Amino acid sequence: MDELAGGIRRVTLPLPQRPGHVHAYVLPGDDGWTVVDTGLGLPDARERWTAELDGLPGAVARIFVTHFHPDHVGAAADVAALTDAPVLQGALDYEQCRLVWGGEEWSAVLAEWFGRHGVPADVTDELIGQGALYRPFIRFQHDPVPLEAGDDVDGWRTVAAPGHADGQLMLLRDGVLAAGDHLLDPITPTVGLWPESRPDPLADYVAALEATIALEPTLALPGHGEPIEDPVGRAYALLDHHRERLSRTAAALGDDPSTAYAVSFALFGDDLKPAARRFAVAETLSHLEHLVLQGGAGRRESDGGVTYTSA
Ligand SMILES: [Zn+2]
Repeated sequence: MDELAGGIRRVTLPLPQRPGHVHAYVLPGDDGWTVVDTGLGLPDARERWTAELDGLPGAVARIFVTHFHPDHVGAAADVAALTDAPVLQGALDYEQCRLVWGGEEWSAVLAEWFGRHGVPADVTDELIGQGALYRPFIRFQHDPVPLEAGDDVDGWRTVAAPGHADGQLMLLRDGVLAAGDHLLDPITPTVGLWPESRPDPLADYVAALEATIALEPTLALPGHGEPIEDPVGRAYALLDHHRERLSRTAAALGDDPSTAYAVSFALFGDDLKPAARRFAVAETLSHLEHLVLQGGAGRRESDGGVTYTSA
């Protein structure tokens, strides 16, 4: 466990895929420690957390999950069992967590959806397989204490951070933002459109970045990478990044209809492994749908699937 300013502790846990690590944070509060995120539920997750928590003076009072992605929610049930502490999770985030990880049906939903967006069947199989790799390592806590934005968590305030995940929540206290994957540096958080996600995740993300700027945090603790000393500057840089990607998306469209899969090659190149292509297609779609809703692109839906043209 690393000690950060303000008595905050950081636990770095391994990930089998890039970026190779995820951070959990242990926040001091008025009433015990709050563990923020839990890492992937790898087979040794319990041993690892036991060793980490051994060095902590005092008990864990609660576990807070920023969002339902495997590297954040994966070991939530393990840490809960280990500490006897309740898990707190955004209500919308938990709904999506259950939908995606609660059963086997999600793979079929995803396969159908990738197919409609032009992904060839053999590639779809690979994309789905990549997602399913994580499934055994996701042990989320059933029926957590539901949270909404603005709730108080032992002196920390929850702040909505949709975009990377619709229901993502952060914690803010005295300018310190436990940011989940809302702000990352130098990685840019993925902002993808997925089945059953809100209709315009990019608009949500842009609004959330603007709201972050208005909050003027002085330090952000991200799920990946080092603490961000200038969160406001980083939020501005991420806004620029998406503005540029939007204009590249618009430029990739023409009079001939293109699928999101085809456009993902124009935006992200053709040299991507299946796991990365999966996010590239979802990210391309969030930009395409944003353009459509802004009147900057056309969208046609037929039995064969969905295609986009320039406006
Ligand atoms: Zn993450």
